[in-house]
Amino acid sequence: MDFAPSPKMQELLPRLRAFVQTHVMPLERGMARGFWALQPELDHVRERAKQSGLWLPQVPAAHGGMGLSVLEHGMVSEVLGATPLGHYALGCQAPDAGNIELLLEHGSEPQREQFLRPLLQGRTRSAFGMTEPEHAGSNPVWLSTRAQLDGDSWVLHGHKWFTTAVDGAAFVIVMAVTDPEAAPHQRASMILVPTDTAGFEHVRNIPIMGEAGEGWMSHGEIRLDGARVPASNLLGPRGRGFALAQARLGPGRIHHCMRWLGICERAFAALVDRAATRELSPGHVLGEQQTVQTWIADARAEIDAARLLVLRAAWTIDREGLDAAREQISIIKFFTADVMLRVIDRALQAHGAAGMTDDVVLSHFYRHERGARIYDGPDEVHRAVVAKRILGARRRDGGSP
Ligand SMILES: Cc1cc2nc3c(=O)[nH]c(=O)nc-3n(C[C@H](O)[C@H](O)[C@H](O)COP(=O)(O)OP(=O)(O)OC[C@H]3O[C@@H](n4cnc5c(N)ncnc54)[C@H](O)[C@@H]3O)c2cc1C
Repeated sequence: MDFAPSPKMQELLPRLRAFVQTHVMPLERGMARGFWALQPELDHVRERAKQSGLWLPQVPAAHGGMGLSVLEHGMVSEVLGATPLGHYALGCQAPDAGNIELLLEHGSEPQREQFLRPLLQGRTRSAFGMTEPEHAGSNPVWLSTRAQLDGDSWVLHGHKWFTTAVDGAAFVIVMAVTDPEAAPHQRASMILVPTDTAGFEHVRNIPIMGEAGEGWMSHGEIRLDGARVPASNLLGPRGRGFALAQARLGPGRIHHCMRWLGICERAFAALVDRAATRELSPGHVLGEQQTVQTWIADARAEIDAARLLVLRAAWTIDREGLDAAREQISIIKFFTADVMLRVIDRALQAHGAAGMTDDVVLSHFYRHERGARIYDGPDEVHRAVVAKRILGARRRDGGSP
């Protein structure tokens, strides 16, 4: 396995780091004013990213992107993850990145024209509506939202929440049951629902640890009450929603994990800075305490271990495809999330009261990244996937001689 950055990445990564530090990180302070107030400045940075050839890293060049492989985009994602605004600045933010992938893979020409093109240009945003408050999201085939064909329209009824970034989005890709009598994994389909459709209601932005957020930085609750869209808004084959959602999550998890590693590095740097400079008494800094030294050493070891695991999974996807990497993807999902939350917590602790304030980015990470152990499959589900595969292999092999 070779994770050495290619000559292309050796040129790109330092340039990207400089872009993030110069143009994106200075906007972080503005996050307290809310997304809408910050949007003009973010738009300006996005224009600059386009002009600098740093737009849509994960999208093929034929569609206006940088055409990076999964491994290469992973490396980019790590650099961007250092700031909560990094991915947005380059147009590769969740949930749009996954939706772009879906539309590129499965969108019809008219769907690409209507939904994908403005998304690629950064003129619109989108959301992904699968989870329902009434059902366990960790059992993704259990959905109440229904879509029924009525003439040449789908008519949708349902209730979704944690529809990230639906506030101000142009459309939502809704997972709805279209074939209730089919086998569980073939009941649901994906349907493109513009948010200005009659019967579509954005109920609220859900407060997350005291912060409801707005625009792209929010998680919404929506209701579909007889929302009617053209039959041609079916995305991909009917009854294939679950398969499409699984495919969407594979490379997406690599990107999330690399973004988390970017957060780890930012928090780690803050931990080291604080340990090196905070005097507990004149001339004696925090870093002289063995407990803090342990935090630093453990954090370094854990981040490096997580990084190697994530790169291995990205490498496997690029070489052998998603199926070959299933177990590795589950491993990095729970392992990296855990490492990130521990590193953030240690860095925050080292900052004392200052760590709780919005003067440092750590408090933002602490609030908003806790969800990493829940979304895209809770820890326990991924651990079960890994353990079952290992036990299954043991059963087939008959054990060691
Ligand atoms: C920040 C954030 C953003 C999100 N964005 C989106 C989005 O854009 N679109 C969308 O559709 N959804 C989104 N979600 C929802 C997310 O996909 C669900 O929260 C997730 O699937 C878990 O479902 P649930 O919340 O219903 O928890 P439940 O399914 O009720 O599970 C609760 C807990 O039970 C435990 N558990 C579950 N299953 C098992 C098991 N098999 N074995 C052992 N323990 C288990 C886990 O600890 C889990 O956390 C988001 C969630 C968060 C936190």
